[in-house]
Amino acid sequence: MTFSTLGLTDSLLRAVRESGYTKATPIQERAIPVILSGKDVMAAAQTGTGKTAGFTLPLLQLLGGKTNTKADTVRALVLTPTRELAAQIKASIDTYGTHENLRCGVVFGGVNINPQKRILRRGLDILVATPGRLLDLYQQKSVRFDDIEILILDEADRMLDMGFIRDIRKILALLPKQRQNLMFSATFSNDIRQLAKTICRNPIEIDVSPRNSTVEAISQKLFHVEKADKANLLSQLLRADTDQTLVFTRTKHGANNLTKRLNRDGISSAAIHGNKSQAQRTKALEGFKQNKVQVLVATDIAARGIDINQLATVVNFDLPHVPEDYIHRIGRTGRAGARGLAISLVSSEERKQLRDIERLIKRSIERGDTEVFDLSKPGREQSTHDSGNNVRPAQNTVDSRQPNRRRRKSRVNTGKRHSNGNTWRSSPSDIAANG
Ligand code: AMP
Repeated sequence: MTFSTLGLTDSLLRAVRESGYTKATPIQERAIPVILSGKDVMAAAQTGTGKTAGFTLPLLQLLGGKTNTKADTVRALVLTPTRELAAQIKASIDTYGTHENLRCGVVFGGVNINPQKRILRRGLDILVATPGRLLDLYQQKSVRFDDIEILILDEADRMLDMGFIRDIRKILALLPKQRQNLMFSATFSNDIRQLAKTICRNPIEIDVSPRNSTVEAISQKLFHVEKADKANLLSQLLRADTDQTLVFTRTKHGANNLTKRLNRDGISSAAIHGNKSQAQRTKALEGFKQNKVQVLVATDIAARGIDINQLATVVNFDLPHVPEDYIHRIGRTGRAGARGLAISLVSSEERKQLRDIERLIKRSIERGDTEVFDLSKPGREQSTHDSGNNVRPAQNTVDSRQPNRRRRKSRVNTGKRHSNGNTWRSSPSDIAANG
């Protein structure tokens, strides 16, 4: 569906055109008219579905026509769990609001609070905020909520996961009762429904959770590999394919270690997780977006909401404990009809998690066999023999560097090798077969 039938004003349609979008995504198609009608919305939609434009466009329209100049007040509040998401939402509002005369500001922790106070002092139409910093600003009397007309809770499930529930409740208690509420969450668990009941009034429920469509658009493979061999295997996979790759690890510590190892192996990598400073995260993300960094290693929470278009490959270095997170992770690739590849490295300790994931996605993930890579060779040493990006199939030779070491041969065939070149990406027929 084109945007022109959704009830948006000409200036917003112009901004949409300038962004290069021709068709509205399902969440945009369904949410925009409902939000414009003034109703509360509870939407199940995750990052990558176009949800940000789905709430930003109608929000700009509802607020349009007047500019707020009342000091320390805001007319719409967007609450979001992470700094990255906050910055991205602000950037979207700036993009779509380029022809509107509205003021938007963003506040999050980890940076100097004073410039944020100065921005609020001018009065804002839209404030994008993480909960903790917003409460700090409130306590320091730098923001008042009396003029709030619209509340948006983005990534509500993550907010609960990250322990923001008390902050959210405190903020809710400070807001005017009469307001429009929009709640977005990747999933609608019982906890989220409970929270929604205390926030929304007769909300219109919209569910575009891309569960099956996403899974089907993505070629998925897994390799059974022992924990100790995972980094080596990954190194070899990444050398075979220099596509930009998002790698998920379960822990921050794991993300750091893996990043170090990949960099040592000559694969430019950066970690992004909660213990990194804002400056480090921004640098890592920028480096990745500008293609200076091939691999971004992230924990689930940090990766959530990172806005990267056309991500070719996602790797689950560790399987997630919550099976739904598998879908969230792999949903970072194969966006907007583009083909994607998701690779999982599964150790013997992770078999239960794998079973849960396969039960959830209602299919068995294709197993890569162990025929191409030689895990007895440390990835780093191999790089001195490799000329470049191609991983060569291991030869059946004795490893002369380690004559006494029993050769542990684990060869991996990712299925990416095709007659058209040294690639381990699946062919379209693989996808059809999988889908
Ligand atoms: P989001 O789900 O809001 O994180 O958006 C994911 C990505 O989709 C962002 O990079 C948007 O710029 C992009 N996007 C949003 N709406 C559309 C659309 N209608 N057509 C194509 N891309 C879009």
